[in-house]
Amino acid sequence: MSDLLLPGDAERILAKAALFAPPGNTLPDGRRDLVGLSREELLAAVAEAGEAPFRAKQLWHWIYHQGVRDFSAMSSIARPLQEKFAKHFIVSRPDVALDQLSKDETRKFLFNFRDNEKVETVYIPDRQEDRGAVCISSQVGCTLSCRFCHTGTQKLARNLSSAEIVGQFMAARDAYKEWPSPKGETPRLLSTIVLMGMGEPLYNYENVAKAMKIVMDGEGIGLSRRRITLSTSGVIPMMDKAGAELGVNLAVSLHAVRDDLRDELVPLNRKYPIKDLIAACKRYPGASNARRITFEYIMLKGINDSETDARALVHLIAGLPAKVNLIPFNPWPGSTYESSTPVALKKFASIVMDAGYASPIRTPRGQDILAACGQLKSLVQPAA
Ligand code: SAH
Ligand code: SF4
Repeated sequence: MSDLLLPGDAERILAKAALFAPPGNTLPDGRRDLVGLSREELLAAVAEAGEAPFRAKQLWHWIYHQGVRDFSAMSSIARPLQEKFAKHFIVSRPDVALDQLSKDETRKFLFNFRDNEKVETVYIPDRQEDRGAVCISSQVGCTLSCRFCHTGTQKLARNLSSAEIVGQFMAARDAYKEWPSPKGETPRLLSTIVLMGMGEPLYNYENVAKAMKIVMDGEGIGLSRRRITLSTSGVIPMMDKAGAELGVNLAVSLHAVRDDLRDELVPLNRKYPIKDLIAACKRYPGASNARRITFEYIMLKGINDSETDARALVHLIAGLPAKVNLIPFNPWPGSTYESSTPVALKKFASIVMDAGYASPIRTPRGQDILAACGQLKSLVQPAA
């Protein structure tokens, strides 16, 4: 399709995402995966099998509320129909290729999909609070080549499907036996989702959006949109779309306050420079003191960590309900940067804090199991 036929940037990005589409959801034996289907698609699948619409509602409940994978355990469905469903359908999970527990209880999974592509998912518990975040991947590899990021050295193999995105969360829930889905305010061990794993979620928008709608559905997993944070390197046209359609929390990987430096660290900046990025953050719906935008800022020694940088950062985000996550750089084999010194980190944080912004320093978690972006996979499967 010629670019001229595509009216806007968002459409162009969606068309490009389709070139990296995941494999379909039908197995070689003809059975179809029900995980990852929207409610409408599930309804259509049930109708195709010649069954009444309320069966779709029952299946949804068993799959997403109860976490059941085996049709024979779906006790509100009579045996003959269970058997029929089992002939037509499956309820998938990714295979666990590796499962590592850190001394600090961070747990890292390497998941393997049907075509043998793999991604990482990390569970980061908050022991004091009985809750935790699941860091989910959206793509196998990434096209964006940020200089400090190991995933950026791994060519984009393909986008993940909605089933593979929801599947990471469901498989992590399996590992903690957190089924059925806790209701309302009942505490959850796996209480938030951060789309901060491998890949750029806004370059795989449709599958990410579909997966998040499934996760947010109140008759299933029922995670509130306030408990989901999507991290982007700054794909502006899709930020507007995500804000309008999903309304999840937004995190922006800023990492630099000057275009010349950000052009180098986050090459996407050449297309969507800082000024436009901040304007898009200002437009982001629901940004308020209760729902602040998170700016991620990786602290690189001697590169972006001076006091001048800190003051410029404060100036840049002035007027935005925001917080700043300062992330000490996590080295990987072959990386050229070093993490800022503790003194530089503290100084930077205090300047941002004195200006009225929360600026937690993200202590590295799971270092003994290489829980930083892209590292485990690279040990198993060297980057192409
Ligand atoms: N593509 C999206 C989401 C995935 S990357 C984005 O860029 O926002 C999410 C975060 O991983 C980035 O903000 C970056 O802060 C962090 N990250 C990547 N490489 C890192 C490294 N070597 N050390 C510490 N954090 C890293
Ligand atoms: Fe891709 Fe994010 Fe890594 Fe940049 S930081 S290469 S956008 S995964």
